[in-house]
Amino acid sequence: MTSIWDRANPQLRDLVVYQPGKPIEETARELDVDPGDIIKLASNENPLGPSPRGVTAMRAALESAQLYPDGGGFYLRDALAAKLGLARENIILGNGSNEVIEFLAHAFLSRGDDIVTPEHAFIAYKIIATLFGARTVEASAPDFHPDLDAALDAITAKTKIIFISNPNNPTGTLISQAKIDNFISRVPDNIVTVFDEAYFEFLDGPPDTLQYVRKGRNIVVLRTFSKIHGLASLRVGYGVAPRELVEVLQKTRQPFNVNGLAQAGAIAALNDDAHQRKTKFVVDAGREYLQEQFVEMKLDFIPGAANFVMVKVGNGAAVFKKLLAQKIIIRPLKGYSLPEWVRITVGTTEQNKKCIAALKKALL
Ligand code: PMP
Repeated sequence: MTSIWDRANPQLRDLVVYQPGKPIEETARELDVDPGDIIKLASNENPLGPSPRGVTAMRAALESAQLYPDGGGFYLRDALAAKLGLARENIILGNGSNEVIEFLAHAFLSRGDDIVTPEHAFIAYKIIATLFGARTVEASAPDFHPDLDAALDAITAKTKIIFISNPNNPTGTLISQAKIDNFISRVPDNIVTVFDEAYFEFLDGPPDTLQYVRKGRNIVVLRTFSKIHGLASLRVGYGVAPRELVEVLQKTRQPFNVNGLAQAGAIAALNDDAHQRKTKFVVDAGREYLQEQFVEMKLDFIPGAANFVMVKVGNGAAVFKKLLAQKIIIRPLKGYSLPEWVRITVGTTEQNKKCIAALKKALL
């Protein structure tokens, strides 16, 4: 008998499905404990919860849930444009920034094309490229620091998109403005460069990549409401690019890809400065605490620029399991070919302390 796999697109056979952080509810069921007792430090979520302003706006928006949302996302794109000093036409909304990565693939990738991305980059680029039959060429990243010259050297006639995650997930490394400027001065403009800045709001200053969008370069800057704004469940992110590039991407989008609650929540969360400030303060202090503890424990780690830290624990899968038994979820990194490392999201002070205590116990 033939298998339905023989009728399916052949690249699907090799496709490795994205492994998200283990959910709290699933862990609670397996351990037969209350979900409230579980600490999740596995998906770089906001430890303080959603933007309160966003929650209030979403409660009000529920009253018109019978209506289709504004498919064009007029008000949210306007609010983003005002904040970024660009025009509404420079912005495309996605069901999470992950969906904008998929728009890019719809728009530019066919079977036989290449994408280039540094080693250990956020895995969604490779997964989505594979889905479209494209090959992922990984440029070297010595000591986990992406080498953008190597990325340029990896360009061939087949290269359509270069993906640069900055800061990168899962390594937490940040590429300097000088390196970005040098890269931009050399990259051919028929290649689309994507700067994935999901963690941008956790940074203290540059890099400034939007200047290149303003100059009309073929750059897409990705940002999201899933991280500092605390709206991961709503699935809303966006891409910022020159008008013509946004026009191309808009063609690939489903009519109502971002729901009405998400749009309302995001508009309110965008200018919830108090929540963003508080979150950054907690994350800065928590990351410093975790890193100090890793020094004391003599564990190798990569100093992080975002709301997580990658640390070398030996057997990542075993340590993940030992922490799970102590009701703490972290992220093993076997999927990134980093089996000795785990990624820990910065939590509240109390969560961080519990995590370190559990880690010490696991490493005894
Ligand atoms: N880019 C990076 C670098 C990420 O870490 C994530 C979330 N894990 C995303 C994009 C996707 O985020 P979302 O789809 O929630 O906006």
